[in-house]
Amino acid sequence: MIIILFFIFGMLIGSFLNVCIYRLPLKKSIIYPSSRCPHCGVSIPFYHNIPLISYIILGGKCKNCLKSISLQYPLVELLSGLLTVLTYLKFGLNAELIFYLVFIYFLIIIGFIDLKTHLILNNILFFMIGAGVGINLIFKTIPWIEAGIGFVTGGAVMFFIALLGKVIFKKESLGMGDVKFVAVAGFYMGWKMIIPSVYFGFVLTLIAIIILRLISKIKAGDYIPLGPFIASGLLIFVFWGNVIMNYYWELVT
Ligand SMILES: [Zn+2]
Repeated sequence: MIIILFFIFGMLIGSFLNVCIYRLPLKKSIIYPSSRCPHCGVSIPFYHNIPLISYIILGGKCKNCLKSISLQYPLVELLSGLLTVLTYLKFGLNAELIFYLVFIYFLIIIGFIDLKTHLILNNILFFMIGAGVGINLIFKTIPWIEAGIGFVTGGAVMFFIALLGKVIFKKESLGMGDVKFVAVAGFYMGWKMIIPSVYFGFVLTLIAIIILRLISKIKAGDYIPLGPFIASGLLIFVFWGNVIMNYYWELVT
């Protein structure tokens, strides 16, 4: 029963994450006005705004202008619902649950905005670190030293990779947004997990590039946003980081 409640809660949050993903890059308020169709701007009544269900009932179209609504909307809602349940199953009903749910919701927002606009917005990172520090002040979820070193190592390693990329490829291959993003993520993940999870994110990027090249969706030199892959690597490590690391150590020792 509680799992269903968490799933519904997660989908409702996902609905709000969609609003953030759409409006934050446009510098629009995420509170006012209420949800609108991205095509015709007509206000969407609450009974047509039920996560996932409305999308299916309305056949993925706006009731007013009949234009297609992006698949991103139900996808983010579903993802948010599933990850909320997974986080509950992993951490149980305690402070860690709040800490990691907030982290995961920020990862969804950042990943999707980067995918769509190729931007990692400073404002969002600012709120993300603020939320992490705030929750940790109240609940002491992660030791400050672990979070602090995570922040510094995350930022430093990414900065070094950015510099290296600039020297080798003679152009900006990794943006400062990615550097700041990994620093903030390092706060949440702690220093032990931030480097392996970002490394995992890079591996995912490489796999995606190979697949996209094979099916000719991209050409050499095309821009690939790193944010969604780093976010995916971080997500996987929140849940299975320990398992992956143990497996890795068994392989190398
Ligand atoms: Zn419409």
